[in-house]
Amino acid sequence: MSKASSKIIAINAGSSSLKWQLYNMPEEIVLAKGMVERIGLPNAIFTIKRAKGEKFERIVDVSTHELAVQMFLDELISLNIISAYEEIKGVGHRVVAGGEFFKNSVVIDEIVLKKIADLIELAPLHNPANIQGIKAFQKILPKIISVAVFDTAFHTTMSTENYLYPLPKKYYEKYGARKYGAHGTSHFYVTQKSAELLGESVDKLKLITCHIGNGASITAVRYGVSIDTSMGFTPLAGVMMGTRTGDIDPSLIPFLMEKTGINSVQEIIDIFNKKSGLLGVSGISSDMRDIIVACKEGNKDAILAFTMYINRIKKYIGQYLALLNGVDAIIFTAGIGENSDIVRSKILEGMDWFGLEIDESKNFPGAEGIISTLSSKVKILVIPTDEELVIARAVEKLKKK
Ligand code: AMP
Repeated sequence: MSKASSKIIAINAGSSSLKWQLYNMPEEIVLAKGMVERIGLPNAIFTIKRAKGEKFERIVDVSTHELAVQMFLDELISLNIISAYEEIKGVGHRVVAGGEFFKNSVVIDEIVLKKIADLIELAPLHNPANIQGIKAFQKILPKIISVAVFDTAFHTTMSTENYLYPLPKKYYEKYGARKYGAHGTSHFYVTQKSAELLGESVDKLKLITCHIGNGASITAVRYGVSIDTSMGFTPLAGVMMGTRTGDIDPSLIPFLMEKTGINSVQEIIDIFNKKSGLLGVSGISSDMRDIIVACKEGNKDAILAFTMYINRIKKYIGQYLALLNGVDAIIFTAGIGENSDIVRSKILEGMDWFGLEIDESKNFPGAEGIISTLSSKVKILVIPTDEELVIARAVEKLKKK
């Protein structure tokens, strides 16, 4: 390690979980990573994995995020990965909603923290959890630089006609009712990485980036910036997902309330968020692996769910091919995009008219890089996303400033 290198932690805090990754920067070497799940519940699961591969898992009670932070830092010491807390020189936090305000990553101070709290209504489940993570670190490591990296920042370049809903304009002006998008850190990472892989400058490329995991979003990227994305005011919009509907006619809300007797809008929105998508249609699972198994067994509802899922993604790709007047590459990332050769193959099936030809000999589970045929006009890429690295890089950059 060079003398100038320092240890930086990237954090992704959920309401009952804390995911972390420890880096040596600027070398970008992952030293260890881990997760604390079920914080505040009985039998929390504590996992830690060294870079060289040994994984430790324990069931313990972890009542707060602060305790979770303390536990994994202590574990880093007992595993000799660090020798003291003071070795950590910076921490970066994933923050889901940055609204229009945060266009870039920022050093967290009291004003920034208050602003993140003000934006809670844009991400009522996520921003409060992100704040808990930030505060836990502020208590335990008060002197180190703390940086917020926003999931919405990459999409702040969208043009007005793409982010505005065709509602009375005052709702945007008065209340900020507009599209913000999500997964920006991932779309940004694969955008940069695809330029590297294609040996081209990012500002010469037109791309469609498909982040397809349990949550999924598709982004149109022109010359390095997001010009449109499928998620909306919240991550409920866009393509069909594991448990979310994606785009839906809002008139269904009063209709379903009347028919079902459910008298709370929030309850209906919860159904759209948590009980729909692959899970809702198949009645089996939100997990694509289960759906694929059930399809192979001939389960009709699983086949329908799978077909609808593929169809929604195809339609978004079609929209963005039109918006961008063709693209140089389509990128697949996240749990399903990275791992499922079947999903990639089905999405691109019958799209050769657009210059999209997948090479099935390169499209296998675990494939990475270019998976299109040599003659394909549009390159097709599989790029494992790395949001943690983007966060660590942001800390490193702001630390230098
Ligand atoms: P993520 O939210 O990015 O962690 O992605 C989670 C999703 O990836 C789940 O729906 C998993 O079923 C899916 N996934 C992971 N591995 C595979 C695989 N080999 N084939 C299909 N889906 C997968």
